[in-house]
Amino acid sequence: PDPVLAIVGRPNVGKSTLVNRILGRREAVVEDTPGVTRDRVSYAAHWNGRNFTLVDTGGWEHDAKGIHARVAEQAEIAADMADAVLLVVDANVGATATDEAVVRMLRRKKKPVILVANKVDDMAQEAEAAALWSLGFGQPYPVSALHGRGTADMLDAVMEVL
Ligand code: GDP
Ligand code: MG
Repeated sequence: PDPVLAIVGRPNVGKSTLVNRILGRREAVVEDTPGVTRDRVSYAAHWNGRNFTLVDTGGWEHDAKGIHARVAEQAEIAADMADAVLLVVDANVGATATDEAVVRMLRRKKKPVILVANKVDDMAQEAEAAALWSLGFGQPYPVSALHGRGTADMLDAVMEVL
């Protein structure tokens, strides 16, 4: 079977936009309001002649557990079925308490994590991306899922660990 890459992160950071960028077509549902992707959706993807399965996550509801717990729980289910994880953070917002909850969960897993600093639409935002070194997953890859900036370098890094 093809290796599995899970895309995790809090709502609205651009996970589904990144999925569409990697697939090269608009298949994952992107919304301006969080919570649109239902649970987990798998897609057949490829890069540099290698096939892999991409798993988009979402489907969070504001229930009794609260948003931190729900995001971390969804991310954990996806991480458990994956060979590697793309953790997406909004570089313009920086690391939030919800991001930190996902980070704590991922640290317990023995899976490679590639940290993606999304919404870096131009060079001026690269400093915000660099601030995400503090999350402890090594180099943050600055990308713009919307425009495609930086996604090739990010995918090259993914292929080294997948
Ligand atoms: P998800 O909830 O993490 O799947 O996020 P979505 O992919 O649905 O995107 C949420 C919002 O962020 C949408 O309005 C996207 O157009 C926007 N967005 C996603 N990627 C980027 C990006 O690289 N730059 C900017 N400026 N906006 C983005
Ligand atoms: Mg989504």
